[in-house]
Amino acid sequence: MNIAIIGSGPSAFYTVQSFLREKPLTNIDIFEKLPAPFGLVRYGVAPDHQKTKNIIRLFTKYLNENNVNYYGNVEIGKTISLNTLSDIYDAVVVSSGAPEDKGLDINNNSTVQIYGSAQFVGWYNGNPIHSKLSPNLNSQNIIIIGNGNVALDCARVLAKTKEEFYQSDIMQYALNSLNKSSVENIYIVGRRTPKDAKFTISELREMADLKMYKPEVDYDEEEMLKVLDSTDIETKVKKNIEALIDFKKFNATSKRKIIFKFLSTPYKVINENGINYLLLKKNKLLENKIISTETIEKISTDLIITAIGYRVSPIEGLEIEPNRNFFVNSKGHIKANIYTNGWASGASVGVIGSNKIGASLLVKKIINEVSANKNDARKKLLEYFSNNSISYITKSDWKKIDQIEIDSAKENFTRNKLVDIKTINNQLEI
Ligand code: NAP
Repeated sequence: MNIAIIGSGPSAFYTVQSFLREKPLTNIDIFEKLPAPFGLVRYGVAPDHQKTKNIIRLFTKYLNENNVNYYGNVEIGKTISLNTLSDIYDAVVVSSGAPEDKGLDINNNSTVQIYGSAQFVGWYNGNPIHSKLSPNLNSQNIIIIGNGNVALDCARVLAKTKEEFYQSDIMQYALNSLNKSSVENIYIVGRRTPKDAKFTISELREMADLKMYKPEVDYDEEEMLKVLDSTDIETKVKKNIEALIDFKKFNATSKRKIIFKFLSTPYKVINENGINYLLLKKNKLLENKIISTETIEKISTDLIITAIGYRVSPIEGLEIEPNRNFFVNSKGHIKANIYTNGWASGASVGVIGSNKIGASLLVKKIINEVSANKNDARKKLLEYFSNNSISYITKSDWKKIDQIEIDSAKENFTRNKLVDIKTINNQLEI
């Protein structure tokens, strides 16, 4: 069987894992838009969460298998069409994730920068698409919208000192900018209550361990205690609320703060007398329902980061569902011999390992539904590349890049990522 996988992040590599287990002799070709592999693990996971990034070791083991090949810097729909892949291979699996930001419907009548977390995270992680971002870190207040783990990642990275990044692979250009930051308050804004926050406890607790910033919680303690008293409280919620109550002891003791704000819906950015403000419409809790009020809170800021979830990048030939979040599919099947899994196939929620079960089920489905009758897939692909003068990053190129990145890491850091294809090509020629 000859399989093409689009994307090289967690859902792609768990698909490889399942094929190697179910049908060990399958030829698997991985196509990645960016030069380097590993998608969300390389460009999404926070640089100071190296333990999470360790999954790259397992993915590398699969990449090193003889029947697995890698074509980096190849964008489906641009470098080669989806139809061509579908013709050449027995099945195509779209595991391209959700690398774009969901938009926040907000009126911006000012010069304030509004970046999505894919952009901001991509910037500090050296994603070639976002590496040229220039976030304004001279703002006294930075506002992060969203109450998920990505909001916590962004806040933590904004707050850490250089030393707190030791043993990470943060980009040096980002670290230099962050070091010069004059930000005093990092707001994390949720439209609902602490009970509704999607934080996980270990990520939330990290906020209390920061050297320079301390957490502050702008929410009534009595209300939080009431939630703790209820009998049907989930353990995850209980732990989060206990942590937020704990954070209250830090209130007003630090010049630099991470301020958790709840029941606040962002709706407008304005400029008044040369100062940019985000206006938040305050909500209230009435008989367990969240009601919008006419009360407005105004926070001055020059940088807003939205961490409100992700959506797919379009691929020519694939339909996207009406909210534009993922590709239309029926239990992983898109059309003909094209399938999908991971964040490309549904909501952008869950951790890296959450992709494992989905990948395993999809591989079983493909093996059941697809008959292997396409021969010489790899030969045909290479002919196509050669006839169209397409150059790409191979598996052995990546091995060299990987070694260069590790060898050129600055003291106290784990890796010096090569960002753009020009630098990579220069390095490969040396
Ligand atoms: P998330 O957990 O789904 O959180 C998104 C947040 O955005 C929610 O608080 C949501 O509020 C809010 N939101 C959505 N639309 C909004 C709008 N229009 N206005 C205001 N707020 C809005 O997503 P995420 O933080 O992007 O994380 C994605 C997944 O990756 C999650 O499953 C997360 O746990 C995982 N992740 C894990 C780690 C880790 O384990 N260390 C790190 C990063 C990410 P509502 O609830 O009100 O809709």
